Amino acid sequence: MKNYLPNMYQESIFTIPYDTLKEKGITLLLFDLDNTITPAHMKTAEETVKQLFHTLKEKGFTVVIFSNSPNKRVKPFSTFLEVSMNGLSFKPMQRSFKKMLKKYNTDKKSTAIIGDQLMTDIVGGNKAGIYTVLVNPLTVKDMILTWYNRYKEKKIFETLYKEQGFERGKYYE
Ligand SMILES: [Mg+2]
Repeated sequence: MKNYLPNMYQESIFTIPYDTLKEKGITLLLFDLDNTITPAHMKTAEETVKQLFHTLKEKGFTVVIFSNSPNKRVKPFSTFLEVSMNGLSFKPMQRSFKKMLKKYNTDKKSTAIIGDQLMTDIVGGNKAGIYTVLVNPLTVKDMILTWYNRYKEKKIFETLYKEQGFERGKYYE
């Protein structure tokens, strides 16, 4: 159950205290796409996300869209948001996590994942030993494949509440 608990929990990518991540020595930010950066059914991202990523790059972060979606879906976001990408990541499997550390020549202590799903983003990140940040999903409208995950996730949230005192909407750093 410990693998399901995020290191940080925030409302959205806009409320994350990035300076705190910086102070922890984190330089590589792996962002989930669907329901983290953009609602799962949308084909474009908001201009505000582009501004945020621009600011993050100015602060010295490397920003990567780290998604389980196919490259065909991820590529337009990568182009518009002017950040690099990795599609078909198969989170929570570890192969792509390892690939990212190698590609960006960094280590797990300097890397964070930011995502909306416990079973892919948070479990994968915790297993990889990187810093994990959970955000609320942007919409409840999900891909069919994630419905089952959401059902299981509900049960996990209940257990996290009982065992760790984790509550949805009770944000922490
Ligand atoms: Mg997601």
